[in-house]
Amino acid sequence: MPQFPGRIVSKLPKVGTTIFTVMSGLAAEHNAINLSQGFPDFDCAKPLRDLLVKYVNSGLNQYAPMAGVMRLRERIAEKVAALYGASYDPGHEVTVVPGATYGIFTAVATLIRPGDEVMLFEPAYDSYAPAVEAAGGVPVYVQLRYPDYSIDWREAQQAITPKTRMLIINTPNNPTASVWSGEDMRMLEGMLRGTDIVVVSDEVYEHIVFDGHRHQSAARFPGLAERTYIVSSFGKTYHVTGWKTGYVLAPRELMAEFRKVHQFNAFVTNSPVQHALAEYMENRDAYLALAAFYQKKRDFFLEGIRASRFKPLPSRGTFFQNLCYDAVSEERDTDLAVRLTKERGVASIPISVFYREPPPHRVLRFCFAKSDDTLAKGAEILSKI
Ligand code: PMP
Ligand code: GLN
Repeated sequence: MPQFPGRIVSKLPKVGTTIFTVMSGLAAEHNAINLSQGFPDFDCAKPLRDLLVKYVNSGLNQYAPMAGVMRLRERIAEKVAALYGASYDPGHEVTVVPGATYGIFTAVATLIRPGDEVMLFEPAYDSYAPAVEAAGGVPVYVQLRYPDYSIDWREAQQAITPKTRMLIINTPNNPTASVWSGEDMRMLEGMLRGTDIVVVSDEVYEHIVFDGHRHQSAARFPGLAERTYIVSSFGKTYHVTGWKTGYVLAPRELMAEFRKVHQFNAFVTNSPVQHALAEYMENRDAYLALAAFYQKKRDFFLEGIRASRFKPLPSRGTFFQNLCYDAVSEERDTDLAVRLTKERGVASIPISVFYREPPPHRVLRFCFAKSDDTLAKGAEILSKI
């Protein structure tokens, strides 16, 4: 193909290929234990697979309704009411989308105009800033404080300007594995009272909170729910990241604007997948048991690396365990992650990629959504380093 003859002015000049694609590719190339990208290496439940086959075979293979299959929206609204005490109307306030990334990107595209400021907390999941920049917005960063990744709410307050249109929050948090408390959510609620600022709350790990703590959904806080797009994903909850299906909750007026953009973007989400998920959601145990399932995996991995020179940071939620490598190496995390993959056969994610500038602390992120066999092999390698 000949080259494009004109000049391309990139909207995302600093963006390369995502670290997840890079590290999973490197892990495959070097046949390494892949604890980098966040996805299970075990299969989803057979009844869920059977349901998908059932709905494909029953002819539900054409476009779903624009906002999503109604029975799935009803199950989602029921779940959110039961867990967080919030009432969302499945007709106007719940939309099924092709994954949480899409939900976040579309919410940003719906409201952000050139020059609008969007507050992000750093380290930030890697899709947020590009979504803001693609819309012409300006990310404004507030630092999470190492090593517990807590928030200085005074600093957040000071970062608000007349141009602030939106905040993107994420609890349980990727990549820090921290979890916001009810007090954090109340601080946020108080900070935004009386403003026009909208929140996008990325809650894809809502069912993966450890040690008896509760997920503090924005839905629990009326002063937040009234201004928030809550985004979640079935990928994490049912071990089906490849199905790329999630949902967005928002008050009616916000959702009406969201759907205006959604209908000309993806328009709809995969139809048989939605029917399968709707039926599967009738069994509440599948998501209620998830936290215990992953807590066991976290603890199994931690036990495996107990004698190693890597020092665990708290993992309070998500399926990630961060390890500080101060005692192992002085290398940059990006260099170490590559070297461990190539030379030792274990892949991780360097935390610095979630910052604009590399932070002074040395941390790698390991995903424990893996079979016990994979985790044992990974831990064994780490213990010898
Ligand atoms: N937000 C966060 C914090 C995530 O970790 C992920 C996925 N790993 C997503 C969004 C994207 O979810 P989905 O695959 O449904 O787009
Ligand atoms: N969110 C997942 C992670 O943090 C990966 C998803 C992706 O590859 N985009 O590892």
